[in-house]
Amino acid sequence: MLSQLRQIVEEVGDAKSLTAAMDTLVQQTKLTMKVDCCSIFITDPNVQELNLMASEGLASTAVGATRLKFGEGIVGLVHQKGEPLNLANVSDHPHYKYLPASQEELFNSFLGTPIIHKRQVLGVLVVQQKKPRLFSELEESFLVTLAMHLASVLANSGLRLELDKLNQPAASIHLQGCPASSGIAIAEAYVVRPILTLAEVNIEKSYSSSKEILLFEMIVKKCSDEFSNLALTLKEQLSKEAFALFDIYSHVLKDKTFLNAIRGQINEAHLTASSAIKVVAESYIKQFEAMSDRYLSERASDIRDVAQRLLYHLTQQVEDDVNLPDKLILVASEVTLSMLASIPTEKLQGIVSVHGGVSSHVAILARALGIPAVMGLSLSLDNINRKTLIIDGYAGCIILFPDQPLLTHYQVLLDEENELKNLVELGKSKDAVTLDGQRISILLNTGLNANQHGAVTGHFDGIGLYRSELPFMLTDSFPTELDQTESYGKLLDQYSEFPVTMRTLDVGGDKQLSYFPIVEENPFLGWRGIRLTLDHPEIFLVQIRAMLSASLKHRNLRIMLPMISAIEEVNEAKRLITQAWKEIKYEFGLTADDFPLPAIGVMIEVPSSIFIIPQLAQSVDFISIGSNDLIQYLLAIDRNNSRVASLFDSYHPAVIQSLKLIIDNSRSFDLEVSICGELAGDPIGALILLGLGYNKLSMNANNMGKIKYLINAVPLHELENCCDLALKANSGTEIRAIFVNYLDRKGLGGFTRAGK
Ligand code: PEP
Ligand code: MG
Repeated sequence: MLSQLRQIVEEVGDAKSLTAAMDTLVQQTKLTMKVDCCSIFITDPNVQELNLMASEGLASTAVGATRLKFGEGIVGLVHQKGEPLNLANVSDHPHYKYLPASQEELFNSFLGTPIIHKRQVLGVLVVQQKKPRLFSELEESFLVTLAMHLASVLANSGLRLELDKLNQPAASIHLQGCPASSGIAIAEAYVVRPILTLAEVNIEKSYSSSKEILLFEMIVKKCSDEFSNLALTLKEQLSKEAFALFDIYSHVLKDKTFLNAIRGQINEAHLTASSAIKVVAESYIKQFEAMSDRYLSERASDIRDVAQRLLYHLTQQVEDDVNLPDKLILVASEVTLSMLASIPTEKLQGIVSVHGGVSSHVAILARALGIPAVMGLSLSLDNINRKTLIIDGYAGCIILFPDQPLLTHYQVLLDEENELKNLVELGKSKDAVTLDGQRISILLNTGLNANQHGAVTGHFDGIGLYRSELPFMLTDSFPTELDQTESYGKLLDQYSEFPVTMRTLDVGGDKQLSYFPIVEENPFLGWRGIRLTLDHPEIFLVQIRAMLSASLKHRNLRIMLPMISAIEEVNEAKRLITQAWKEIKYEFGLTADDFPLPAIGVMIEVPSSIFIIPQLAQSVDFISIGSNDLIQYLLAIDRNNSRVASLFDSYHPAVIQSLKLIIDNSRSFDLEVSICGELAGDPIGALILLGLGYNKLSMNANNMGKIKYLINAVPLHELENCCDLALKANSGTEIRAIFVNYLDRKGLGGFTRAGK
């Protein structure tokens, strides 16, 4: 039964149109379940009706011509109740409504089940039999399971667009995805499909291996040059962190094992260059995809992307830049870095990717470039190329075929946004001081090496979070103490007048080291952060020694421990830090007065740590809230999973109450507290934090301008009043509304407003 079910779902998914899909569905289901009739009704919410879209058994004239009001008849009842109904004699049911011209009088027994996607009833699937009988439990569960699979096939395939079109009175279609990068874009959709996909390449023998090798070497060089050129173009606009993503491609293009495997296929198996690329790339992809950890399995898409680019050059189908629209929104099933490479940045207004999440490489890049992006949506790429598209990166939605009033509305928002950007830029060099004189310390979150922030302009008070794991992720083995000392030294040098808070290695979860893979069922609840480094003191000690040696020159280091959940972890980490400190002191012939132990702090990101603040206050010098993880653990919502992304509510009352508890406890124990999660760089998040009493916010460079602008535009006592209300609110939606209304009243609505 399972394989038949899978087959039906696959065939429906492969259908070229919605009608064909529905016809296939009813035919195959009727056949598989050995019933006399199978029909599907599709919901039309605009007129509140169910439309008989396909049937194998009912009169063909009824198909397309039969409509039921919501709640009307048995099918309407299934739709209304949202649950299956199994009846031996359908006409006995008080809700039964005879459908003239359908010939349904032929059938007595009825089994109907709703097709539901994300709480929305898309339609009703029905099977009927002449013989009066109740359908068996097996039949019922088959139909229900089929409907569940069908719902995601319908929602996630190209069929969705057709379905939406059916359900839309106006031309415009709103599609919801994940907000990967905020902002508004209005431009032509530029749909990019791979010219020759890896799967489409036929395996062919070559006539001349030497010629194929030459060709291959040439395109490898072409691709490398292309990425270097792009890197040069983007260098000004990108932080080193985002810029380093291109390194991953260069890595693949320089990877001798990968290249030699392709050369081997050309020279020894006598394949053409394109066949050799296919064979090798697919085997790499397969191996990476089989790996359960996210970081490694994501490498599969790097390999696919590079192989695709090699094929692109090999087939010599050069895109014609001249034909590109002046302003475009890049749309693809999976937007890749190499697609971005082929589009001049001045033309690129926005990014829409059917697949991928907010933490994908492209999302990171989009944010670094300040380009609105929406990812992870059900969108068919057919019929939208060169059509006007709106991206609302605040709400994480796109609008296809927008009508004139919508276009005008969004154009006004876009103009406002541009005006705001100019204002924010001007305020960057100012201090952050509220209208009633409260100075707020603004700190910078940073990730890679010291040079990367040459581009960070404006005033800030130090580094609130240096994510030390990123350099570990870009190497092929654990970096040596010397390498680390050099790398940390650069950062400490660059910010010599500022305190620099370096976080110790925080791998595990979604951050994996290719040379130290960790395979776990629940990586976010597993061997992560301090748990891993305490189990490997040799790694921890080397890192601490490197940090300490690097800090000798300016003494501006602070050490922060990630993922702390219990005081024992702090004690053990402090023991190791003290050991490393004594060693360095001894090696450099220093006394404790010459070289005091740097300040040590912990991240508050595991809920249990909130409740040990009194103990932490005895042991550490500061705490910093990692709201990204704290929210994920408080709400039990994977921060990277697009399926539950809409539940990741940063303003959830539990979050606000926790923040209140943390600040109150820290104050009463005289413990320095700051926040370095994304919440600090979010306009509403920052206002909430200020209103609760926080005065140290650490954020990425992109958010600094707007957060400072906001701080300079509001008095603290008003934020305190808003927080009093927020602390009594029942839901995240209410809390958000309090601040959205407040900002609107202050004429600052542009900072949060989505286009709704
Ligand atoms: C956090 O969890 O909020 C945080 C700052 O750390 P990371 O995002 O690196 O997990
Ligand atoms: Mg974290």
